[in-house]
Amino acid sequence: MPLLVMKFGGTSVADLARIENAAKKVQKEVDRGYDVIVIVSAMSGETNRLVGYVEGTSKLYDAREYDAVVAAGENVTAGLVALRLQEMGIPARSWQGWQVPINTTAQHGSARFVSIPRDNIDAKFAEGFKVAVVAGFQGVSPEGRVTTLGRGGSDTTAVAFAAAFAAERCDIYTDVDGVYTTDPRVSSKARKLDKIAFEEMLELASLGAKVLQTRSVELAMRYKVRLRVLSSFEDTDENSGTLVCDEEEIMESKVVSGVAFSREEAKITLFTIEDRPGVASAIFGPLADAGVNVDMIVQNISEKDYDDAHPGAVTDMTFSCPINQVERAKKAMEDAKTAGLIKYDELIIDTDVAKVSVVGIGMRSHAGVAAKMFSSLSAENINIKVISTSEIKISVLIDRKYMELAVQALHDAFELDKA
Ligand code: ADP
Ligand code: ASP
Ligand code: MG
Repeated sequence: MPLLVMKFGGTSVADLARIENAAKKVQKEVDRGYDVIVIVSAMSGETNRLVGYVEGTSKLYDAREYDAVVAAGENVTAGLVALRLQEMGIPARSWQGWQVPINTTAQHGSARFVSIPRDNIDAKFAEGFKVAVVAGFQGVSPEGRVTTLGRGGSDTTAVAFAAAFAAERCDIYTDVDGVYTTDPRVSSKARKLDKIAFEEMLELASLGAKVLQTRSVELAMRYKVRLRVLSSFEDTDENSGTLVCDEEEIMESKVVSGVAFSREEAKITLFTIEDRPGVASAIFGPLADAGVNVDMIVQNISEKDYDDAHPGAVTDMTFSCPINQVERAKKAMEDAKTAGLIKYDELIIDTDVAKVSVVGIGMRSHAGVAAKMFSSLSAENINIKVISTSEIKISVLIDRKYMELAVQALHDAFELDKA
């Protein structure tokens, strides 16, 4: 039997009517002759509610119990979707992560897949079941404890199942009808893309476009999963939505194909650090040890370059990290200072920032993207605090209050509304 993976996000299973709507989409594929693995998220808002319970109970919570609580949302929707399918006369059952089993590492809250043995689900398909409804976002650790994959993780569950079961396609049903040039909720000029290259999608996702979890794109790229994003609220067919695929499959070639943004950044500056060999390592070593994901880094130029003649040179260092890691970063720096590993006069934290990025594989072969980006931001009088670039993206850190304006300006400057 050909097999499809269909994933329904939180808004697509937000209440019983939407669950019925999702089940009808599954029914259509079953009628076409597919066996289907359905991956479900928790009802929208549910995971946040559960996280709130955990944080309201314990500040420095045991991550294993956090996972036990927050994984529960997906268990509910898996059961309800299976029940709805049964009501429609389709042989279906639900699967929690441990029942499959979805084996993961023991990194609670951000576990990674180790293996997804097919035997149990295959045996049920062989018995005549048409649909396996699997709780997304969760797994089981080597110790037998419930794990979760990080927020948005059901996308990754879907892609992992598509790879493990050699699915014909992995369809991600969500509340938008595809991947857009930027978040359609921020720019009304955002344009839906028919196709997007894995690498571009990977950058967009990791730079803040929440439509797919970054890890899901990585897995799809590695295992060559045909990955599609489409609307759960509209009528859809084989050509709907956006296909995430190899760059060779794409005809349209724009230099920049999307704008991503993230409000979840913070900027930290250490003033008056020594300018000498080993200082960067003395700063970023302890940050890494503390589990801080440093993103952008700027070191100022000293007035006098470090050399034998200027042993006392000083400079400043600025870096960005996820906003929820600021306290950890601050503590790591203070501890390093107390231990005499680094010196600085002042540590300043700025949480009122946003990161805005332009992404496109065309940047590899085109000059001038940075110049255009900076000039369009300057035309809006938006000051750039930090810049970072890679082969196919340029990111800037700016005041958060200008984020929407910057997204619009860049979308216009690179004419992303035009095909
Ligand atoms: P789900 O609950 O289905 O997983 P998410 O909220 O995680 O849905 O992801 C869908 C959302 O991603 C959309 O509602 C949209 O606001 C947001 N989004 C951000 N960037 C983009 C983009 N480039 N294209 C489409 N959607 C985007
Ligand atoms: N329910 C989880 C979350 O809200 C996982 C997901 O929906 O992908 O993060
Ligand atoms: Mg999501």
